[in-house]
Amino acid sequence: MANITKKVSWSSRTDESLSAGETTPLLNGSEQPRHPRQLSRGGRIFQLGRLNTVDLEEEITSDEDSGRGRLKEIPHTEKLLSLKYEGVLFSLEEGASFWNQMLTWRIFFASMISTFTLNFFLSVYHNNTGDLSNPSLDYDNIENQLFLEEERRMGYLSFRCLEISRWVVCGLIGILTGLIACFIDIMVEKLAGIKYQAIKESVAYNIYEIPLFIAMGAIGLLGALFNVLNYWLTIFRIFTAVGGLSVSLLLWAVLNSAFVMVGSIIVAFCEQPIAAGSGIPQIKCYLNGVKIPRVVRLKTLVVKVCGVICSVVGGLAVGKEGPMIHSGSVVAAGVSQGRSTSLKRDFKYIHRPCLRVMEAMLVAAVTATVSFTMIYFSNDCQPLGPEDTEEYPLQQLFCADGEYNSMAKAFFNTPERSVRSLFHNQPTYNPLTLGLFTLTYFFLACWTYGLAVSAGVFIPSLLIGAAWGRLFGILLASSTSSDSTWADPGKYALIGAAAQLGIVRMTLSLTVIMVEATGNITYGLPIMLVLMTAKIVGDYFIEQGLYDIHIKLQSVPFLHSEAPATSHWLTAEVMSSPVICLNRIEKVGTIVDILSSISTNHNGFPVVVQVTSNDEQPAKLCGLILRSQLIVLLKHKVFMELARFRLTQRKLQLKDFRDAYPRFPPIQSIHVSQDERECMMDLTEFMNPTPYTVPQETSLPRVFKLFRALGLRHLVVVDDENRVVGLVTRKDLARYHVGKHGLEELQLTRS
Ligand code: ATP
Ligand code: MG
Repeated sequence: MANITKKVSWSSRTDESLSAGETTPLLNGSEQPRHPRQLSRGGRIFQLGRLNTVDLEEEITSDEDSGRGRLKEIPHTEKLLSLKYEGVLFSLEEGASFWNQMLTWRIFFASMISTFTLNFFLSVYHNNTGDLSNPSLDYDNIENQLFLEEERRMGYLSFRCLEISRWVVCGLIGILTGLIACFIDIMVEKLAGIKYQAIKESVAYNIYEIPLFIAMGAIGLLGALFNVLNYWLTIFRIFTAVGGLSVSLLLWAVLNSAFVMVGSIIVAFCEQPIAAGSGIPQIKCYLNGVKIPRVVRLKTLVVKVCGVICSVVGGLAVGKEGPMIHSGSVVAAGVSQGRSTSLKRDFKYIHRPCLRVMEAMLVAAVTATVSFTMIYFSNDCQPLGPEDTEEYPLQQLFCADGEYNSMAKAFFNTPERSVRSLFHNQPTYNPLTLGLFTLTYFFLACWTYGLAVSAGVFIPSLLIGAAWGRLFGILLASSTSSDSTWADPGKYALIGAAAQLGIVRMTLSLTVIMVEATGNITYGLPIMLVLMTAKIVGDYFIEQGLYDIHIKLQSVPFLHSEAPATSHWLTAEVMSSPVICLNRIEKVGTIVDILSSISTNHNGFPVVVQVTSNDEQPAKLCGLILRSQLIVLLKHKVFMELARFRLTQRKLQLKDFRDAYPRFPPIQSIHVSQDERECMMDLTEFMNPTPYTVPQETSLPRVFKLFRALGLRHLVVVDDENRVVGLVTRKDLARYHVGKHGLEELQLTRS
């Protein structure tokens, strides 16, 4: 190893700076935003629960108390005052109970609101688990001797073949991508069709079956009165009808009893008496300052919810409002604390895969429920247009024959079809339907983005934009005099969709996509104007698009097209120094040690030659070698001492490096014996002899440009005499960004 390596390693810098609680070194002294995990603990979300001075940990005590038995029911008399209940913390101040109640209710309300807000932010933030350890790609050819030899061997024909093979590969990629897209499209269409058909048929069955039975009975009765010949037939029909009803009655009673039995069993055996009744008295007591054991437990919630479902479904004369209030309290207490003593878990991020799956399923269920509710309560039934050839279209649902439900046109459809229907002049939508749909779908889309599912944001954005664009068109037309002519609402939908897509901040490419999608070049100019306006307005509020925000949240060292503004005064001083270098002829043991070191897990090493015998003098740069190359060399034991066997051994080819790509074995899997450690390795043949270098005085934007334009991974900083003084990698550049307080520096972390 060159002398230069003996000084300090990169790790020494980060290890110290990474110590917990240390403020981030900022160029301008401003504070760096904390890691979201820290935010959640110390931030407002977490403190929401803390406001509630009720110590939920008491539930653990109550668990311990379970040996003492669960709460026995108090004899129902007003003259007793149980000694069992302890006061909770907030009731200690006499006379303050009213304010405490208010505070607690406020917390409950805040919790309910925050539940939604939290879920939204969680769905965005729980992806934020990235670190700065993502390795870079190497676009730069390593023009070492092997490479040059191979290039020399290649004739004109080989180059042409290579070029043709590139085109073939590109074509294949296109075809396969198209096939996959087709497959997805067809499957979505088919499955959605089957699903919607099944749902529709069940709805139609319920609607038409009952009048059929009534009609049968009525006709039979009339027949009995006026047609003596029909007497026996009538008797038979009535008998059948009566028999059917008794069966129905029996079924009704059995089902009711069964549901009630289930509900009663879980309450009586699992959480008696706390889950029985409405729960409001217990909550009132709790708010009043009385510690009611297990009142806000998850188990209580589960039993309560299941119980009330069974009771209501079982047809008992009960309401579900009280239990709902109790359930709300449990949820609010749990969410505001972000932990459950029943599950012994702390929840603010969802990391566990099974929980992420459950979250995705929950969102799917909520989406279906919300959509169904919206369709059910919408009375926007529109007559079928001439182009609707189906007698009973899928979207008829709760509308009469010859009509369709326009809320269903938007919700009871694949998003692609909904967008298409919004872009066309027909069907007709009323403004309320569109307004409600836009709002609902927007929140659902926000909640959905970030779930552990493969999902794009393109079509949902188109749909939201198309809905409010169309709404805008309708309102514009209705707010002006009837003789003014406005474009049809479908065109506004198109413009709205383009504007909504401004969230990804792509102007030109989106214009092309939209023009392609509509197949009409006439809309090119308005779409471009809209996209530019959307970008300008969007940039005013938040500078980055959705994708960029996510890149930032995942802490990926992404280099934007330009260096951060105001970074001109910085030079290549952003480099790491001193650098771990390797001598051109290096000891195997040294290489193995460097590669094995966890603290200096670098991927590139400048290769140097010592020009003077003075070890203190920095060595001159003569190349750059990658970890992956060194590993292949070690694996094939390309040691100088073994060179004499080369005559019998095969010479290392470029193919050997290619074969190892992309999964180079870890250094730990390479066995190097103690004797081999003493051998020497000549890196000359394998290193990149002309790595890109910059003088120390180069400005940061210039270094940035070089990196971006050439797709570099390592850039060596040298002095006037070509001696290595530092190394710049992508992470050294991605660290700088313009924040609220000017140029800010992010901290490198391995976690
Ligand atoms: P990548 O991770 O992109 O594959 P890498 O592992 O070689 O590249 P980084 O992970 O970007 O390098 O390096 C993290 C930090 O270590 C950066 O500040 C970089 O300048 C520094 N660094 C990289 N290689 C060396 C080296 N050989 N000697 C000293 N510091 C280095
Ligand atoms: Mg690295």
